[in-house]
Amino acid sequence: MTNKPSKPIGLFDIPSQQKAIGQQKFLSAFEKILNHGGYAQGPETVELDNKLAEYSNIKHCATCSSGTDALILGLMAWEVKAGDAVFVPSFTFVATAEAVAFVGATPVFVDSDPETWNMDPKDLQKAIDEVKKEGKLNLKAVISVDIFGAPAAHDEIYKIAKTNNMKYMSDAAQSYGAVYKGKRVGNAELADITATSFYPTKPLACYGDGGAVLCNTDEELAIIKSCRVHGSNPEDKYDNVRLGMTARMDSFQAAVLLEKLTVFNQELADRERIGKYYTENLNSAYKTQKVLDNTISAYAIYTILVNNRDELQNWLKECGIPFANFYPRPVHTQTAYKHYNNRSLPVCEAMASKVLSIPMHPYLTKEEQDYIIECLNTFASKTKAA
Ligand SMILES: *Cc1c(COP(=O)(O)O)cnc(C)c1O
Repeated sequence: MTNKPSKPIGLFDIPSQQKAIGQQKFLSAFEKILNHGGYAQGPETVELDNKLAEYSNIKHCATCSSGTDALILGLMAWEVKAGDAVFVPSFTFVATAEAVAFVGATPVFVDSDPETWNMDPKDLQKAIDEVKKEGKLNLKAVISVDIFGAPAAHDEIYKIAKTNNMKYMSDAAQSYGAVYKGKRVGNAELADITATSFYPTKPLACYGDGGAVLCNTDEELAIIKSCRVHGSNPEDKYDNVRLGMTARMDSFQAAVLLEKLTVFNQELADRERIGKYYTENLNSAYKTQKVLDNTISAYAIYTILVNNRDELQNWLKECGIPFANFYPRPVHTQTAYKHYNNRSLPVCEAMASKVLSIPMHPYLTKEEQDYIIECLNTFASKTKAA
């Protein structure tokens, strides 16, 4: 048996990343902000907008206060409102559906593909047909999620959305930096609008809350910028022309992200190497996520499906390996969302009781990873029932 590593293993590891970049880099950037005094939406946020738009190969980027606000701002740009149906996966972080409900529209939950764990295009088509037949809601938009960092079937979903005259948004909160068929997530050819999050545990992350909306038209950008600051009018500061929010990004968070971008591509390569090593070496009793052909996951989170999860969790505790359950409860079964749903979603319901997420970050050493794999595989061969 491989020796247990001497220092505790992290599910995520933000301190190691800070060490790799160097604290002084952050402190110098913060000092600049203290001197220029533009704390909210200052020059650092503008520099970041330009860098991210270029990185994603899309015309515009509007940084904002969080991933959730990015989703809401994207929906506001399309004037999504009460009476509109917005199709979302149920196997996701709650914010995807929350944003839809928040603007007054109706989230229509779609089941997951059993292999990729992302929105199932076949079930999307089925849900659209059901809503059409019922005739109560206006078909408005589809939001897919690249769960755990692995891109959804964007081409297929985009086509279904367009055939039905709907907008298509990509929730890339977990997948910023991932590549779908040669195109970086956020690319204008993959979705009309992409929303992402920079929460500390996401692949590209700040030291607090942050997010961004990527869009390709000047009209969308104008509404997003207005809604980001109380529905303001760039022509007349004292005439607010629509309902908006306080959803700016702080200059400090933008400065953090500009430093993090200097190591981002290296981190993505490390995440990919580590993610693939798990997939290749874990006992086949554990079901792992399928990444589509010609596609690179951002490996934000590494999740496996296991039947006897409680037992395995006890074993991992004994081994000193941290874990989490992303996500133990599909959104359509949660208290605030139950009343929206009358669809049966068997795939995501079955997955919820089996998900177990194990340590995943770019600073995981080979020694740590081998130890994690050995502990998991020992359990699988001991219990056989995994
Ligand atoms: C984290 C996350 C969000 C929300 O981002 P916040 O910055 O926490 O508001 C939205 N969607 C998904 C899929 C996420 O993982």
